[in-house]
Amino acid sequence: YEAKRTGLPIVPFDPALLASVEERIRLEHALETAIERQELRLVYQVIVALDEARPGVSPVVANVEALLRWNSPELGEVAPFAFIPLAEENGRIHALGTWVLDAALEFARRQPGLRVAVNVSAAQLGDDDLVTTVLNALQRSGVQPSQLELEVTETAVLRDLAGATERLAQLHAHGVWITLDDFGTGHSSLAVLCSLPIQKVKLDRFFLKTSLHDPRSEAVLRAMLAMARDLNLAVVAEGIETPEQCEALRRLGFRLGQGYLFGQPLEEAEALKLPVPAPRPG
Ligand code: C2E
Ligand code: MG
Ligand code: MG
Ligand code: MG
Repeated sequence: YEAKRTGLPIVPFDPALLASVEERIRLEHALETAIERQELRLVYQVIVALDEARPGVSPVVANVEALLRWNSPELGEVAPFAFIPLAEENGRIHALGTWVLDAALEFARRQPGLRVAVNVSAAQLGDDDLVTTVLNALQRSGVQPSQLELEVTETAVLRDLAGATERLAQLHAHGVWITLDDFGTGHSSLAVLCSLPIQKVKLDRFFLKTSLHDPRSEAVLRAMLAMARDLNLAVVAEGIETPEQCEALRRLGFRLGQGYLFGQPLEEAEALKLPVPAPRPG
């Protein structure tokens, strides 16, 4: 009532907001020591050849994607979507990114012949030191650049198109593979796509939700595939969960896929046992 008389707006107390602020502070604090306390690990999910994927037959692995996991004693398993954006905001992402590169390249060293894809966030891509950071990590590990693939998102690239293009082109000139992740969810025009130094696109799993029943989304998928082919880009369909999706994608002409149908991300010890793929394009 007093507040009303002074003309100040009455802001109702929102415990949820307070909880989320407290949560954020707790998370940020715990994240500061996550590396030194060895709470991080990578898991590896296979990308498979769809043309050879058959029910009951173990899929042919084309490469793997490294995915970051954080097990905090205080907070439990924290999902990447909960801590990576935070790390981007407070700058921790650079230390995390270097840790991820070193761990993924150590895995690659122990699994020669298997290419490892590493996710690079917007803040890393926007960093002038990205090229040096990646090349230094490669040098430390002794792994060939061609055994490393970097996944960048459309959104991250578009934040600084010229800078990102320059850095990715330099890395590719050294032999590193570059992939556009979550493709189709951003706002890049076809012209932008043509100008990027990428060799592969990963079609966001959003597209799998409708493609099976809607002829119009099927037309979109066909067009994207045709365009990618014309641009000489390999295409991976992300988030394949059912045999029906797999079959539909294969019929459309998709050659590479990733998703729970072929396997959950594997712990390192399991991933080290994966059969090394025969050399193949893409
Ligand atoms: P992403 O790069 O698009 O990775 C694919 C995500 O989809 C992974 O989630 C994976 O576990 C999940 N996934 C795989 N197959 C299926 C499926 O069939 N169905 C469904 N619903 N999901 C599937 P995850 O591991 O939680 O990672 C989420 C995102 O966090 C990643 O998306 C990536 O953007 C980011 N991320 C993960 N690891 C790293 C990292 O080391 N560095 C950076 N900067 N970002 C990372
Ligand atoms: Mg990815
Ligand atoms: Mg993706
Ligand atoms: Mg995604």
